[in-house]
Amino acid sequence: MLTAKVIVNLSIDRHFDYIVPDELVGKLRPGVQVLVPFRNSLRNAYVLALSNDTSCDPSKLKTISAICEKHPEIPDNLLKLAKWISEYYCCAQEQAVKALLPLAVRSGKVARKESRHLTLKSLDDAHKFLLENGKKSKSRALVVQYLIDHPGASVESISEATGAGKAPISALLKCGLLEEEKKASYKRFVFDSASLLPSQPPELNDEQAEAARIIEALFERAEGQKTLLLHGVTGSGKTEVYMRAIETALKKNLEAIVLVPEIALTPQTTERFISRFRSGVSVLHSGLSDGERYDEWMKIYHGLVKIAIGARSAIFAPFRNLGLIVVDEEHEPSYKQEEAPRYNARDLAVMRGVMENSLVILGSATPSFESYANACSGRYAIARLKKRIDSRPMPSMIPIDMNIERVSDSEGRLPIFSKPLLDAIAQRLQRAEQSIIFLNRRGFASQMSCPDCGFVAQCSDCSISYTYHRTNECLACHMCGAVLRAYAMCPSCGSDKIRYKGLGTEKIEALLSMIFPLAKVARMDADTMSGRRKNYEKLLGDFGAGKIDILVGTQMIAKGLDFPNVTLVGIVSADRSLFIPDFRAAERTFQLLTQVSGRCGRGSCPGEVYIQTSYPENPAIISAIRHDFEAFFKSECVARKEFNYPPSCHLTAIHFKGSDAAALEKYSLEFLDSFKSKIPDGIFVSDPAPAPIEKIKTKFRYMILFRGNLNKDFRCLIREKIFKVRHPSGIEIYADVDAINLT
Ligand code: ADP
Ligand code: ZN
Ligand code: ZN
Repeated sequence: MLTAKVIVNLSIDRHFDYIVPDELVGKLRPGVQVLVPFRNSLRNAYVLALSNDTSCDPSKLKTISAICEKHPEIPDNLLKLAKWISEYYCCAQEQAVKALLPLAVRSGKVARKESRHLTLKSLDDAHKFLLENGKKSKSRALVVQYLIDHPGASVESISEATGAGKAPISALLKCGLLEEEKKASYKRFVFDSASLLPSQPPELNDEQAEAARIIEALFERAEGQKTLLLHGVTGSGKTEVYMRAIETALKKNLEAIVLVPEIALTPQTTERFISRFRSGVSVLHSGLSDGERYDEWMKIYHGLVKIAIGARSAIFAPFRNLGLIVVDEEHEPSYKQEEAPRYNARDLAVMRGVMENSLVILGSATPSFESYANACSGRYAIARLKKRIDSRPMPSMIPIDMNIERVSDSEGRLPIFSKPLLDAIAQRLQRAEQSIIFLNRRGFASQMSCPDCGFVAQCSDCSISYTYHRTNECLACHMCGAVLRAYAMCPSCGSDKIRYKGLGTEKIEALLSMIFPLAKVARMDADTMSGRRKNYEKLLGDFGAGKIDILVGTQMIAKGLDFPNVTLVGIVSADRSLFIPDFRAAERTFQLLTQVSGRCGRGSCPGEVYIQTSYPENPAIISAIRHDFEAFFKSECVARKEFNYPPSCHLTAIHFKGSDAAALEKYSLEFLDSFKSKIPDGIFVSDPAPAPIEKIKTKFRYMILFRGNLNKDFRCLIREKIFKVRHPSGIEIYADVDAINLT
């Protein structure tokens, strides 16, 4: 008897056996979606495996009801990847399988669009028609003539070419001259590429050519690890190297995936790929409608394109002949998914590369320590681009010691802008050059408090302060999104002396508009963009056209922007990221400073970066100023090794969430105790402790950290403890393997 192991739409890490009915034998394969009876209803499920098990008792099994014909199958290679994900990231198999397909494809709710195509039934009849009617029914004759030249043309293309409306076409169909066929059409997404000129590949410089040679050699390698770290300073032409690698893949008839951090934020990068490869590119990002995403995905699935570009989930692009995966800005934390399955798309790229024998290029100006360590140990190949294109100089980095600026202020307060930074902005305005002013926090003020009674406005559901937004007079929690009207007086004592502390981009924008009344100032952050692609495109378009003098923004402006007229970057405070409770705080600071400063001096005029800081001696800041990644990496790694943090080993967190803090603490201790004796040597465990942000959305949080290289058995044990044990009700537990966010 043939049975199938299937997973049903539940996150319990279990599969169920079903009987395959006779009529479906031969039609089922792993990856096919089926309908099965499950707890009194019909559920969608995916087949994972088939077996001819003679030992099982058919009376205990139910039977598969039907195949979901409308749903695409999950290709084998992706199923294999999902299996690896659930094992490595200690998550439910179902969660991993779900991640493979966009909801728009999985749900079956998006309708396939069709287009009508026409052919002539008989050429003889067509010519006869032209002879007899060519003069009196002109538009019909035009259609017939067009179809003689273009058999199978779509109705739209016929109308476009001949100007014929509906009537002549229906008339021709009616009199039996034409035949109609419906074909799937995947054209809902239209990238506005009309303004893009086809780009001609420039000649590579020496460093790029050397990188291209290494890539060619890796392509030739038959098997084994084929990962290259492309470490190139900002503006060194990494994208051009990616595009050459793609050309090589295409020549070999192989497909390519390009991952970019958050594609809606990097329209410029997308444009560059589209202007080089035109319609051969499928674009996958969060700004698409369901219908658009469905079409973009189907183009890949049906082999209509060979290149996919997208954010982290594009790593699951359903190619079957993958030759290359590019991960741009590979150090970006946004490659890590913060909900199940908690995968890192960069690491999945390397894994998929090994499984499908594809080349993987990880590119960055500030590689993650994990990747750099892999390159140093020889696991990855490395290519370096140390110079900017056309030998343009790196921007000069000018530290501004805010301790000195404070002294010069008559009241000893910390000024928001130092004099040198203001002078530099004024100079740019005079020379009609552009400036970027960076601060990694949105809103107007980060705290609202009462000097009389000490009240601080805090979200009641999360343990963080509200941020004050002046534009709409509200307080917003940046953790749960709660918004309320700003207080006119203290809700605790009634005082009207409400005070605002801490800076945000909104205030920076307001101040700059006041100081430079003639300048055009604009702001780009999550508040002004509200996630809409059109908003980014408009703002960046205006900036590129020189309609904006000063662009204020959060990390949204830190990456990908390539505007030659930007000659100044001002970093309002380099210190904010230095003191977040995370062992990667220094690494993040170095990355941010390097990435933001890379936005200037990309044209013929050299760039200057002013870095305001109260800690000018901090190693992360000093190394960023010297453009010295290597020295920074070496010095940081000493400390990381001493305390057993990545890259010297792996870091895994187990999270506990619940509404009752005491119960949570008690259970997290019990949970750890239940397998403490089985923890292998060489793994350091820190006892359960409240997470740095103790409460989010009314749920308290506890965390256990493991530092060390978890082996397969231990991962398996963690999975069992999470999924096979009954936890007290109201407590949620999950693992975060290779955790990035520790707050
Ligand atoms: P990165 O991604 O390393 O920051 P880019 O790929 O954005 O650098 O390249 C910077 C600029 O240099 C782009 O405008 C790009 O078109 C241009 N460029 C890249 N390679 C070359 C080359 N070999 N010759 C001339 N211009 C180039
Ligand atoms: Zn008060
Ligand atoms: Zn909140």
